[in-house]
Amino acid sequence: MEYEAIIGLEVHAQLRTESKIFCGCSTKFGAAPNHHTCPVCAGLPGVLPVLNRRVVEYAIRTALATQCQVRRVSRWARKNYFYPDLPKGYQISMYEMPIAEHGYVDIEADGARKRIRLTRIHMEEDAGKTIHDAGNDASLVDLNRAGVPLLEIVSEPDLRSPEEAGAYLRTLRTVLQYIEVCDGNMEEGSLRCDANVSIRPHGARTFGTKVEIKNLNSFRAVEKAISYEIHRQQRATHMGETIVQETRLWDANREVTRNMRSKESAHDYRYFPDPDLLPLVVEQPWIDTIAATLPELPTARRDRFMHDYSLPLYDANVLTMRKDVADYYETTVRAYPSEPKAVSNWVMDSILRALKDDNRDQQLTSTAWPCPPEHLGTLVRLIHEGKISGKIAKTVFDAMCATGTSPETIIAEQELAQVSNEHELTVQIDHVMAANPEKVANYRAGREKLLQFFVGQVMRATQGKAHPQRLMDLLQQKLAAGQ
Ligand SMILES: [Zn+2]
Repeated sequence: MEYEAIIGLEVHAQLRTESKIFCGCSTKFGAAPNHHTCPVCAGLPGVLPVLNRRVVEYAIRTALATQCQVRRVSRWARKNYFYPDLPKGYQISMYEMPIAEHGYVDIEADGARKRIRLTRIHMEEDAGKTIHDAGNDASLVDLNRAGVPLLEIVSEPDLRSPEEAGAYLRTLRTVLQYIEVCDGNMEEGSLRCDANVSIRPHGARTFGTKVEIKNLNSFRAVEKAISYEIHRQQRATHMGETIVQETRLWDANREVTRNMRSKESAHDYRYFPDPDLLPLVVEQPWIDTIAATLPELPTARRDRFMHDYSLPLYDANVLTMRKDVADYYETTVRAYPSEPKAVSNWVMDSILRALKDDNRDQQLTSTAWPCPPEHLGTLVRLIHEGKISGKIAKTVFDAMCATGTSPETIIAEQELAQVSNEHELTVQIDHVMAANPEKVANYRAGREKLLQFFVGQVMRATQGKAHPQRLMDLLQQKLAAGQ
């Protein structure tokens, strides 16, 4: 029997606020354990949470960027469960009345555009972290993350394959980065997700029993874990086993999912409205103000790139996948508007590769990038004007990245300018012809393929700096002259 997979994702995005959601503690990553804590986020008795307005603003920004409806009134709920990293014994979240609902994200997978509906977006606080200290046979608790603001973005089960799930997560990350509410850094846990996966016979209307895979923290993990889980469920169904509702963990080392606990239902959490926090009322003028500050979103920007710069879809997609890359491209094109496609090639090949090599591809701003966009614009202009060859340009580019100086300075200092001067080229050609009389004779006897040999020799003599077309023209003249 043929099965299809039904997949929904719950994405947790850490918001880029300076302080936590209900207190003034810092959200900075990497501090010593328990340095960013206070009585509120440590859950001491008698303290009251005070809502961080910026968190709500970011939630509304996200809602607007994903076509969700923002609720005029939403409500905070306590999600009760007992775990050592949860000092209060409950997590402040939202339940029946989330801040936003009914949006969508358009993704592209397998060459087709598909709309993935969003069920809801709500705000909540993160929990702390337990560290297992095997040496001392003890468990330690770090509360730096407790109270860090998160958005939970829940999709409808509209995804059908691991590839679609990966594309959805990438698209969502791009949107969150564009609107600058989340840095999208999966290594630091700023973006992670749970996947709900079930299978059903093709054409069936009812859903199969769903299994939840917790805490996936890379695109690779999402795609691999879902793929594994689909196959596991298919195998089990073939063997006549019943799929049980459970929570599983992805074991990245063994590349399998394994049981964590059988699924608690919402009932087990004993959700109830938080008595310490008033219902959240959002007025329309505030929503309008936030809407007015939204930047151009990735899809719109991609379409504009194709229109304004005549770029192919592929280029436009790659360049607009990240806001910083798109900004970098546009600044470079402004520095040299004549060749937008050549600029695109340079950004895609050299800049993106340099970032990857440098492990800087998680950085959001292009200020720390190896080469200012104006310098790259100048470099493309110099190639186009024939001042340097494409090959030499690679050398210049590497030097630009290493030193931060302008291409003109590097070309002058290292004497890399292209030789197109007729006299200089003639001297070199004469030299090569004099050194290879047999080859000259053979060429003149009809072996025209030898032209490449002469080109190569002059190129070597000039260290690649000879202007290729000038050289070719002059060589042909010289060789023909003796016939
Ligand atoms: Zn605190």
